[in-house]
Amino acid sequence: MSEDIFITEERIEGADDGPLAGRTVAVKDNISTEGVRTTCGSKMLAEYVPPYDATVVERLKDAGATIVGKANMDEFGMGTTTETSHFGATDNPAAPGHVPGGSSGGSAAAVAAGEADLALGSDTGGSVRCPAAFCGVVGIKPTYGLVSRYGLVAYGNSLEQIGPFGETVADAAELLDVIAGSDERDATTREAPLEAGETYVDAATGDVDGLSIGVPTELLEGADEGVVETFWDAIADLEDRGAEYHEVSLPSVEHAVEAYYVIAMSEASSNLARFDGVRYGQSGGYDGNWNETFAKAREEGFGDEVKRRILLGTYALSAGYHDKYYKKAQDARAWVKQDFDEALDGADVLASPTMPVPPFELGESLDDPLQLYLADANTVPVNLADLPAISVPAGETDGLPVGLQLIGPAFGERRLIRAASALA
Ligand code: GLN
Repeated sequence: MSEDIFITEERIEGADDGPLAGRTVAVKDNISTEGVRTTCGSKMLAEYVPPYDATVVERLKDAGATIVGKANMDEFGMGTTTETSHFGATDNPAAPGHVPGGSSGGSAAAVAAGEADLALGSDTGGSVRCPAAFCGVVGIKPTYGLVSRYGLVAYGNSLEQIGPFGETVADAAELLDVIAGSDERDATTREAPLEAGETYVDAATGDVDGLSIGVPTELLEGADEGVVETFWDAIADLEDRGAEYHEVSLPSVEHAVEAYYVIAMSEASSNLARFDGVRYGQSGGYDGNWNETFAKAREEGFGDEVKRRILLGTYALSAGYHDKYYKKAQDARAWVKQDFDEALDGADVLASPTMPVPPFELGESLDDPLQLYLADANTVPVNLADLPAISVPAGETDGLPVGLQLIGPAFGERRLIRAASALA
């Protein structure tokens, strides 16, 4: 079972005691572990062993956690199913024969299968929330800047955050307590905005009395009927406990998927330039011409999805096209941010289905990249807006897990944890 969840199964013991003593954690394979290979799901890095720990790994060790392995993922985080991994696909423990979601599919599957108590993933456009939803577990995408990215192999660095998985909201919050907070090695981080003595896990009270929930109508359009039904059942459940909801509109999200993919691919084309077989990555060796040597290393080391994105990203950034694509995408990003800020002025949290569809069958979705990009419609706007969000199990449709996404204001993680803990 576990062989398709982990790329490398190796125990890394932490300190003897600490808040996570006795807990096991799976770590996505794009988060650096000193002395343990970190492949990013790519042939390019199949033999790469980092000489240092990511800040989050250092914090796990200090907290007494035991890391049980490096979890499978879409190559460099590019995907929604974990099927673009060079190391093969991962089955969904909650819905065998279906994908676990992506790109942090191995991390979510590890928790769902009981292979680890907790897990870390990374979320550039939904890669923690999507697999949490598909595997029936909880996943948090923190506010941009709450968690250090030092040691996370960059894909779209202006969008991504490392985030925790757990079986319950309290579990995921406990892990967030350990990894959150400023890091001098990542200048985009800041201290967690907690009062003295306050933690994230102690916000998991399940108290939603008086909570006002905004439901963006655009995030329900085109969603699968069974998913929408399950979503409304969960909202009704929250209403029974004293929450109220109203519909809101976010007109900008219509452009979020386009904007996200232009920005993510542009950043990827630049971030992945270092994998040339000399600075990083595998190489067949110098053959008399550096250009050809680099090209050959990249041709052999990268999979199709990664190549597609590097090509499109390079194109979007090239002279003459930069204003037409990249600059427009940045304008759309600013609009999305503004829309969310306005909607959150009139509601404590926003709610939507995490994914508009239930988990695909293994192999079903791979030939149509555009269809797959559209499945990210509800998650990518949150990354464009730098906001926090949580995916919590809402129920099932035809035996397949459905996730409810709650979105909050910047650094409003405690509010999300409180609300989501009413459900799991
Ligand atoms: N599915 C999205 C993508 O392929 C999100 C990936 C992620 O969050 N790393 O880019």
